[in-house]
Amino acid sequence: MAPTRKLNQVVVVGAGVAGAMAVHTLRAQGYDGDLTMVGDEWHAPYHRPALSKKLLTGEVHRAGIDMAPQNTLDLRVLRGARAVGVDTRSCTLEIRDGGRYETLDYDGLVLASGAVARQWPKGPVPEGVLTLRTVEDCFALRSRIGRRTRVVVVGGGFIGTEVAASLNSMGVKVTLVSRGNALLQTALGAQMGSHWTDLHRHHGVDVRLGVEVDAFLGGGRVKGVRLSDGSKVRADLVLLGLGVEPVTEWLRGSEIPVDNGIVCDARGFAHGPSVVAAGDVACWWHPLYQRHLRTEHWEQASRQGITAARNLLLGPDGAEELDAVPYFWSDQYDTKLQLLGVPEGYDTVEVIEGGTDDGDFTAAYGREGKTIAVLSTTPGRVNDFRDALAEGAAFPPVRSAQLV
Ligand SMILES: Cc1cc2nc3c(=O)[nH]c(=O)nc-3n(C[C@H](O)[C@H](O)[C@H](O)COP(=O)(O)OP(=O)(O)OC[C@H]3O[C@@H](n4cnc5c(N)ncnc54)[C@H](O)[C@@H]3O)c2cc1C
Repeated sequence: MAPTRKLNQVVVVGAGVAGAMAVHTLRAQGYDGDLTMVGDEWHAPYHRPALSKKLLTGEVHRAGIDMAPQNTLDLRVLRGARAVGVDTRSCTLEIRDGGRYETLDYDGLVLASGAVARQWPKGPVPEGVLTLRTVEDCFALRSRIGRRTRVVVVGGGFIGTEVAASLNSMGVKVTLVSRGNALLQTALGAQMGSHWTDLHRHHGVDVRLGVEVDAFLGGGRVKGVRLSDGSKVRADLVLLGLGVEPVTEWLRGSEIPVDNGIVCDARGFAHGPSVVAAGDVACWWHPLYQRHLRTEHWEQASRQGITAARNLLLGPDGAEELDAVPYFWSDQYDTKLQLLGVPEGYDTVEVIEGGTDDGDFTAAYGREGKTIAVLSTTPGRVNDFRDALAEGAAFPPVRSAQLV
């Protein structure tokens, strides 16, 4: 594709997967102007999903999680540099690089500042209460783990359940606390979530459902938690998996619209023809669901980085919408969970292949007679339902291969 408009100074904020895909795409699409990537971590872009899985367990080394190198691109990379403000009228971005402030002019801006782990909402926490978002967080967690360490994981979402599975496989005694009736309930619903609850219990994780952490025990150093049912769990370490917050506070006072992330149209434009956003920070209009969606998953962040960069070069008149069905995966023990679609508001869920008892199954979610999501533990199986989901096919869905 040849760019349809000439840009000369593109700046990408954020060096995660969305930002990395954006810079690669810009050059691959023939953009030959100045290109700057501003990232406040000291690392080149790396794969975050490994932080709760194989990097935590030590099955992969640090070098194994780096993304494709950027040094082949003609690119100015600012590491440890933070964007602190944007002025869309003068088309300038203010950054703080160490103690120094610098103003960058842009005629194209990609906002990919991602998300951060949600902190404990009820005030300061004692030493030993950790969160997990960066490679440093992963090493901080790992360095405190010994065979006799007792860990409480708070939160039954993806980070909580993945960390619990990884620590369990390392021989660590884990208590997993969730206020839901099943693990992964928010993402999968209670019925399917109960399969992962059983899986964790089967491996020996002490799963406590329907309870919250009321307080941390211990003075300066955490010694455990007190739960809302009055029980106490001793712990040497507490890992909070309370979800994430999009990184938008630095845009305060700018004209960039923010509402649960940077509000974008279906092509990634957030403000006029020069500012696009992508990844966990971005809340794109999704043509399939007819609403804004902020997905917090790797594949969507990658796709949006690519699409936003292409559309920046194409300009609003030639830009294309992104209507791909959202996808994510999670690895826990020997089970790969893959979900295609958005099961929110489902009124029926049915196992359509295999059985939950032997752990190898595919389930479909429906709403008002249409298929809205497919969940599978058979690697790659969800791909057979991409067309069905994109077309809003009747429930239960039929695999593409079975249609011919
Ligand atoms: C432990 C863990 C496990 C995961 N596992 C899975 C999985 O199995 N499957 C899945 O689909 N997804 C998974 N995810 C989610 C996936 O990693 C994210 O969706 C993806 O990383 C989002 O990429 P991003 O580029 O939008 O944001 P990020 O990866 O958050 O990158 C944003 C970057 O911008 C930087 N930044 C922020 N503000 C500024 C600023 N003002 N100036 C400069 N730089 C800034 C940040 O420091 C960061 O480096 C996981 C996430 C975590 C944390």
